[in-house]
Amino acid sequence: MKPANALLEQTGTTIFTVMSALSLQHGAINLGQGFPDTEGPADIVQAAAAALLDNRNQYPPLTGLPELRAAVATANQRFYGLDIDPATGVAVTSGATEALAACLMALINPGDEVILIEPLYDTYLPVVKMLGGIARLVRLEPPNWDLPRAALAAAFSPRTKLLLLNSPMNPTGKVFTPDELDCIAGLLRQHDSYAVCDEVYEHLVFPPARHIPLMTLPGMAERSLRIGSAGKTFSLTGWKVGYVSGPPRLINLVAKAHQNLTFTTAPNLQRAVALGLAKPDAYFATLADELMQRRDILNTGLKRLGFLTLPTDGSYFITADFSPLGFTGDDLEFCRTITEHAGVAAIPVSAFYAENPPRNYARFAFCKQPAVLREALARLETWVTAKT
Ligand code: PMP
Ligand code: GLN
Repeated sequence: MKPANALLEQTGTTIFTVMSALSLQHGAINLGQGFPDTEGPADIVQAAAAALLDNRNQYPPLTGLPELRAAVATANQRFYGLDIDPATGVAVTSGATEALAACLMALINPGDEVILIEPLYDTYLPVVKMLGGIARLVRLEPPNWDLPRAALAAAFSPRTKLLLLNSPMNPTGKVFTPDELDCIAGLLRQHDSYAVCDEVYEHLVFPPARHIPLMTLPGMAERSLRIGSAGKTFSLTGWKVGYVSGPPRLINLVAKAHQNLTFTTAPNLQRAVALGLAKPDAYFATLADELMQRRDILNTGLKRLGFLTLPTDGSYFITADFSPLGFTGDDLEFCRTITEHAGVAAIPVSAFYAENPPRNYARFAFCKQPAVLREALARLETWVTAKT
């Protein structure tokens, strides 16, 4: 038979699914795939359940229910002072994953260059390639993951259509600084390029770090698409409700992409997320605060065991260098070994690179109950002690 799509024929199953399956198989504590182990706010879940029962279960509007678009616009103003038109400046999608694909579809013509920053989330590169885009990779280096300004400037060309920016960043936990954002914005203006901003962890940022959307910088509002995720903001990762904010000219194209991908997103979930976005400031502060405490538990524990942990200012994740433990295999072997023998799963950071990755880092998720993190640390300690 003729070959099917060449890119997909070469694509493996995502590392998150692979490690979650291995974790389940070995009864491990899953600090791999990033999802909280407690439910999101009960009132939002209740609102979604109630919304199933009041006869509004047919197709919602293509760009999202008016109440959710209004809530997204209001949140943009409330958190960042951004002026977004609820009618024309917001598109609701089935998760940030769909939003990313739709934004890239909205902007890329075959042959366009797309700047991606490594380490990078696993869907970026395959989608850029499937659209015929040419990826230009710019690599951040541990331990600080600082933006390499000269390399970034050199990656731009007259064919640069867009830069994809993930801040707060998965897997590094980096929150881009105001200076770095200035540098990126300057290059985008200079080269008349767009930005797709993956900001799914916008509310998972730990003081004194502060999340600043690139879209708030001079000249960026008209050339940026900003993506949020209810899954992350309300600890309901299975819901897959995302939202894109941007200038009407671009949102119109995102909506056209969305109409060919999924067309709409479950209406009850949209209604519940609209309520969630209107929650008082205390909700968002507590979300970040509780997560920061969990980061500290895991960070302190991993350091005590001999890992060299890298700083995390946002997201669900800590990147840890396991080479001080004396493990001689690569990161995939390390993550498999601790899943099978210590009973704790993690994600090999090499999965976030296109080629020639570092092989001595594992990513641990700390979006788990403190007792679960402590149990995971105790299991790791038993394994580390037995090994030495
Ligand atoms: N971008 C990043 C950086 C992520 O970590 C995730 C994780 N889920 C997504 C996008 C996808 O978000 P969603 O679950 O809303 O599709
Ligand atoms: N974003 C999640 C992570 O980085 C995984 C999402 C997925 O499994 N596709 O762990």
